Amino acid sequence: MEFFEAKGHRVIGGASLIPENDSSTLFIGSGMQPLLPYLLGEKHPSGARLVNSQKCFRAEDMEEVGDNRHNTFFEMLGNWSLGDYFKEEQLGWLFEFLVDELGFDPSRIYVSVYGGNKEIGVSKDLESVEIWKKLFEGKGISAGEGERIFYYGDEKNWWSRSGVPVKMPVGEPGGPDSELFYDLGAHLKRHENSVWKDQPCHINCDCGRFIEVGNSVFMEYIKTEKGFEKLKQRNVDFGGGLERMAMAAQGKDNVFETDLFVNILNKIEELSGGKKYRDNMKPFEVIADHIKAAVFIIGDTRGVLPSNLGQGYVVRRLIRRAIRYGRLLGIDGGDWMKKLAAVVLEDYKDVYPELDKKREFVIKNIVEEEEKFSRTIERGLKEFEKVAGGKISGMDAFNLYQSYGFPIEMTRELAEEKGLEVDENGFGEELKKHQELSRTASAGEFKGGLADAGEETKKLHTAAHLLLAALRKVLGEGVEQKGSNITAERLRFDFSYQEKITDEQKKEVEDLVNEAIKKDLPVVCEEMSLEEAKKSGAVGVFESKYGEKVRVYSISDFSKEICGGPHIERTGELGGFKIAKEQSSSAGVRRIKAVLK
Ligand code: ATP
Ligand code: MG
Repeated sequence: MEFFEAKGHRVIGGASLIPENDSSTLFIGSGMQPLLPYLLGEKHPSGARLVNSQKCFRAEDMEEVGDNRHNTFFEMLGNWSLGDYFKEEQLGWLFEFLVDELGFDPSRIYVSVYGGNKEIGVSKDLESVEIWKKLFEGKGISAGEGERIFYYGDEKNWWSRSGVPVKMPVGEPGGPDSELFYDLGAHLKRHENSVWKDQPCHINCDCGRFIEVGNSVFMEYIKTEKGFEKLKQRNVDFGGGLERMAMAAQGKDNVFETDLFVNILNKIEELSGGKKYRDNMKPFEVIADHIKAAVFIIGDTRGVLPSNLGQGYVVRRLIRRAIRYGRLLGIDGGDWMKKLAAVVLEDYKDVYPELDKKREFVIKNIVEEEEKFSRTIERGLKEFEKVAGGKISGMDAFNLYQSYGFPIEMTRELAEEKGLEVDENGFGEELKKHQELSRTASAGEFKGGLADAGEETKKLHTAAHLLLAALRKVLGEGVEQKGSNITAERLRFDFSYQEKITDEQKKEVEDLVNEAIKKDLPVVCEEMSLEEAKKSGAVGVFESKYGEKVRVYSISDFSKEICGGPHIERTGELGGFKIAKEQSSSAGVRRIKAVLK
């Protein structure tokens, strides 16, 4: 971050791991995701050159853990140009940063660029090719045809919110990207067992030899009725994994061998009574990865606890899968997960002071989940052995889930190890019967997607501010927002309060919000330092670096919140507001579902 600061960037804080006002994913999976409104044209309070480190979690990579380059939780380093610099600076600085600062061997760097698509009238990204060529040649490395720089098409080297160019709606921006790979050496090729067996290795091959370190996206086109046209405001979005950069910089060929994992792997060796990481790489890596992710999700400022729903179900799977892998190493009972969590908390306490503040809370909840699962796992595994004669029926899988706490993904994994199949549809039907169908059991929800910046969600976002202000007027200043989730149809809003809300209170809150709507109050945005914002009485949590500018949205003297936006301009646009439901969310937290009418 210092490197990019010296190049005129402002360091901005990362967002919470749990998306806010963005129901497209369960977790933040890239540095770009929380910044999307700005890439689409909103003005960012910190200016046109930004840099940060963003905590990311990708549930969809859970089963990749162990392949030398994937974690579920990782930190993504990002830099952005919002209509400021473009390809020349971006690729030059990236190369300088990796080679001159981190010590990458330039002769092991390879890059991909967009190869163009005649059908949509967008040509090869020759600008990037020329820039890369010069950079390589500056280090005495020849970069002629097919040596360092490789062309790929829409699937690999085009970015837009909706994917490949043909899928983009008119009015949407997108553009080519350029990925940078590091060659870890031919000894890592695992072609023998892979589908690539008959092909020579290439930079996008999954064999483990070439790893993607980062991707520079160049937003320079907009789709119009007539085809693709160049944008006036061109943006750069770069994201690169800290773990992978550390791996290359430290001369390792596996993210788990970096200093980011040393302490935790050592602790696992100790807990397992002296088993060695080298001899048991996969279980060590799964445990190390999952405990770190669980600590960060539970300890997030908008943290979630293990449960059977949504994000909570993912945390549950992480902890339970780690416990099962622990048993493979002979680690059993004695609240060992807690000891590992303590190592993670210690390792990251200086980088994430807000995590350190929740230390006891994190440990307590990990212990509770561990205790819950420890009571049943042994009997569950015996039960699994009993039913694992042939295909595992939906009923059996459901029984393992219901009576022994086995997430379906764990049953699937156990079955795969034995070459067996699980009737997952049957499982789903059983689950539905019990009215507990977890939103996340169906894999679809993990797929990346990005913020929904539509007009309806914007309105509901403003409605959320009115709702919070009204709740504080009716129930007292002790009320704090604990989370929100907005789709185009409804607003879900969690807040701290000990008791059930009475019908009278509900009506009062609704009336206050509707009065504010009727008055058609202006929504005004100001930028100020976090300190000034707090002084001005604005409410809201904001993870920010000292001195960073924040936005404060005021709705007359009714509401004042620190918030990134975007919002509508006048409350009248909301029409009317109605609380559809009020219920308990968790201890001390109530949940309101509301709609506009
Ligand atoms: P891969 O093909 O290796 O899974 P990706 O295409 O999914 O990577 P991007 O979505 O482009 O990666 O994310 C940008 C960067 O974030 C990657 O270049 C990589 O350095 C890092 N990254 C992505 N996924 C992971 C992960 N699961 N663990 C660690 N780092 C990751
Ligand atoms: Mg990936």
